[in-house]
This record gives sequence, structure tokens and C-alpha cells, in this order.
Amino acid sequence: MGRLDGKVAVTTAAAQGIGRATAETFAREGARVIATDINVEKLKELEAIPGIEIRKLDVTDNEAIKALAAEIGHVDILFNCAGFVFHGTILETTEKDFDFSMNLNMKSMFNMIKAFLPKMIEKKSGSIVNMASVCSSLKGSGSRCIYGTTKAAIIGMSKSVACDFIKDGIRCNCIAPGTVDTPSLRERMGQMGDPEKGMEFFMRRQPTGRLGTAQEVANIALFLASDEASFVTGTEYKVDGGWSI
Ligand code: NAD
Repeated sequence: MGRLDGKVAVTTAAAQGIGRATAETFAREGARVIATDINVEKLKELEAIPGIEIRKLDVTDNEAIKALAAEIGHVDILFNCAGFVFHGTILETTEKDFDFSMNLNMKSMFNMIKAFLPKMIEKKSGSIVNMASVCSSLKGSGSRCIYGTTKAAIIGMSKSVACDFIKDGIRCNCIAPGTVDTPSLRERMGQMGDPEKGMEFFMRRQPTGRLGTAQEVANIALFLASDEASFVTGTEYKVDGGWSI
């Protein structure tokens, strides 16, 4: 028996990294998963997995979000994972960078929740899991001004949704990862000039002596999505290998 048997889940940013590991984990545990991403080529790699259906979705396109919600109807689980790490202090962040990150990281989740929540309320059941970060209201991190700002906003919005709809059987939680080995983290290491130096930089803040894996974050998403977390709402669940201790 799977931990998500009979449930329907929508996940964003499912083509790689944490989103992909989570879509695969949800499907392995018995859910029907609608895995979405803007990158259809990569998303296609998931098509062969039993339980997974793929859809192209740009989470910054609210009309596309509304169309997807109308097509799918009720979902039990909404996993909002899409997000982008912008590197820079406040002085290095333009208004355009601010708008881009707010749209992609935060407003996308606002629109996804608005699109999928009404049907959850009708059914008096639903679990929303939003991807935040330890770099947020939980911890400052160098040159992550707009990134940390969006992730703090996600924590605030998640608590608000949890609070407003608790009587409708809705749970809304966040995951706050530390440093997780994903394709985009590797890209960020590469952008630091020498990938080895990049790795050293990120490892210096890892008390465990290693990076987290996408699967270790997917495990928390699975718990929060499942009925095992039936008394858990409004939390920001840290999975950071002790970075924030
Ligand atoms: P990633 O950055 O490697 O991949 C991101 C995925 O998002 C890609 O498949 C990309 O195609 C997709 N995407 C980009 N723009 C999109 C859009 N407009 N619409 C839909 N999809 C889009 O993945 P990751 O590193 O696993 O990060 C996933 C989430 O986890 C992000 O929200 C990130 O902020 C958060 N997070 C990551 C880490 C980490 O160390 N990797 C730590 C904390 C939080």
C-alpha cells in the first residue's frame, strides 16, 4: 500500500531537481501525479513512469494556471516548487530583477493556490506544500536579497492560507531546504568561475560535511502531503543538514 494511494497531486518545476524527485516519490507512493514544468523536453523523461502525466506549465502565466485547474478539477495535493535563485545584494538588484523573482517565486504560488484551493474547499480536504528556503525569514544569506525576500513572503502566505482555511480541512505548509545538490546548484557553482571553488564555498556552510539530496527534500514533501501529517499545518519544515542551527 502506498502512502498517497488514491490521491491526485499537481507539482510544478517537476523536470529536474527537487520537483522531479518529489513527482517520482509521489507516484511511487500511489498518487496520480500531474507533473508540470516550462521545460517540456526534460519533463518528457518522466512520461514513462507509472502514475505520472506531464503538462507544460509556465507558472508565471496565470491564464495557463487557470486553464490547468479547470482541466484537472479537484486535487488532493498541490506542490508549488518553482523558484529561481537571483544572486545579489539589494544594491545589485534592479527593479526588473525584483519583479522577475517576485513573479516566478512568489506570485506564481499565489496564483496556483487561488486556482486550486476552491475545489479543495468543496471537498473539505487538501494539502498544499510550498517551497520556501532556509534563506528567508529563517536565516540571512549573502547576496540573496530578493531570493530570501520571496522565500520569506512564501512562508508568510503559507501561514495565512493555513490559518484562513483550517476549518475547511485544508493544510498548508512550507519546506525550507538548505543547500541541495540539484542541476541549478551545480550551475551556480559553475558561475563562480571554478566549480571546485564553488563547491568549497557551499561546503563551508555544511556542518554535515555534505550537501543535501533532492530525495531528502522529497521525503519531507511526501510526509507533509500525506495524511500522516494530518495535524501539521502552518509550519516551515527545515531540511538543511543543520545549516541554520
Ligand atoms: P532547479 O533550479 O534545478 O530546477 C528548477 C526547475 O524549475 C527547472 O526544471 C525549470 O525548468 C523550472 N522552471 C523555471 N522557470 C519556470 C517557470 N516559469 N514555470 C515553470 N517551471 C519553471 O531546481 P531545485 O534546485 O531543485 O529548486 C527547486 C525549488 O527548491 C526552488 O523553489 C528553489 O528555490 C528551492 N530550493 C532549492 C535549494 C537548493 O539548494 N537546490 C535550496 C532551497 C530551496
